[in-house]
Amino acid sequence: MIQFTEGNIEAMLDEAIQNGMIVAYYQPKYNALTGNISGAEALARWISDEGTLIPPDSFVPILEKSCLITKLDWHILKIVCALMKKQIDNGLQPVTISVNFSRAHTYEPDFTERLCNIVDGHNIPHDLIEVEITESALAKGKTYIIEFINKIRNAGFTVAIDDFGSGLSSLNFVKDVPASVLKIDKSLLSGNCENEKERIVLESIFCFAHRLRLSTVAEGVETKEQLEFLRTCGCELIQGYYFSRPIPESEYELLVNIPGNKTDTGDIIETQPAASATQLLLDAVFMCYPLIIMCNLTRNSFYMMAYENFTTQSCKSTGVFTELIEHGATTMHPEDQELFKTTFDRLAQIEAYNKGDRKRSVVTRQIGDDGIYRRVETTNYYVKNPSSTDILAITLSKPLE
Ligand code: C2E
Ligand code: CA
Ligand code: CA
Repeated sequence: MIQFTEGNIEAMLDEAIQNGMIVAYYQPKYNALTGNISGAEALARWISDEGTLIPPDSFVPILEKSCLITKLDWHILKIVCALMKKQIDNGLQPVTISVNFSRAHTYEPDFTERLCNIVDGHNIPHDLIEVEITESALAKGKTYIIEFINKIRNAGFTVAIDDFGSGLSSLNFVKDVPASVLKIDKSLLSGNCENEKERIVLESIFCFAHRLRLSTVAEGVETKEQLEFLRTCGCELIQGYYFSRPIPESEYELLVNIPGNKTDTGDIIETQPAASATQLLLDAVFMCYPLIIMCNLTRNSFYMMAYENFTTQSCKSTGVFTELIEHGATTMHPEDQELFKTTFDRLAQIEAYNKGDRKRSVVTRQIGDDGIYRRVETTNYYVKNPSSTDILAITLSKPLE
């Protein structure tokens, strides 16, 4: 068994690189919706003289300590480029592979130039290489990191923030980092996501990432339950034992070469808009209520979230609330018009809200495209936005027959 010490590590690393004893294993990343392979991560393995595989935890920390980690990373990048070159030469379209770059690289002033030199030396398109930088690297000054990452991205590489959620990096910092991928750390996925508070944390992270147009990768996914939950969060890519462990190059080559194993090469941000639990919930609500209107009673305004015509008379999708009620009444049976108008009189509703009412509902007959009146239930639920004094109403309307 190799004993790594700070004294012998440099010579051992050089020798191992020389003799091809440092290799890359590949762990595929799968599209959460289609199950296709969309990329892979290269992970270093050291083969001992006895032929056993030494995991990175046994040598990465000591390489970090002795400032030799950058040597390992550049070596892994070269292995990855050589594999891609082989695939391209064989007429195959490689998928993006991410390479881990230690935070030590943030001190290399010519990092991007070196990256370009190696990748160009193998004739690999830059967008096939993803640079994974750990969250902890962000600890270096904000302006500096932003410039560092911008330079890499401007050269056409994708940048991912690795291990997000494992350390202390603030959302406020990450929002300004020009990375395009957020890799959610496996420590955030405990058990089968049955703990509600943990689910809330994850949902919020995905919501935050998608709002910032960051694509997301969840790592360490081991169970079907975790996968299902991540799908509801709109997580785009999944990496973990559930689909595949890191595998040797020969196995990886076969995997991406099997015709049945489809690979995705498109831009996932364009091809897969984020689906969130909130959106799915809304879709379900729309199934029950084809008409949903957001009303601001205080400001006398409204906008429609969904509008399925019950009537031939079209209505504006945004505008003045009192005009909406006037218009709505004209589509009602003459005997119901007054009831509808008084129920949804703006000032009467505000007064009712202030007295403690939380909803108002009415059933009226509304004329359809075919000239037939049908009973429609319209309910206003009063809600309060905690950051404003405005009184809001959400109108849910559905035909009863
Ligand atoms: P990482 O970058 O977070 O890589 C993911 C690690 O999680 C890998 O461990 C992978 O095997 C493991 N993993 C993947 N799926 C699962 C899962 O479903 N469950 C569990 N429990 N684990 C899973 P590995 O290969 O041992 O790498 C450990 C760490 O070593 C990496 O963590 C990375 O920080 C570092 N590392 C590996 N290769 C390199 C490299 O070339 N350069 C640098 N700088 N660091 C590397
Ligand atoms: Ca990584
Ligand atoms: Ca990671």
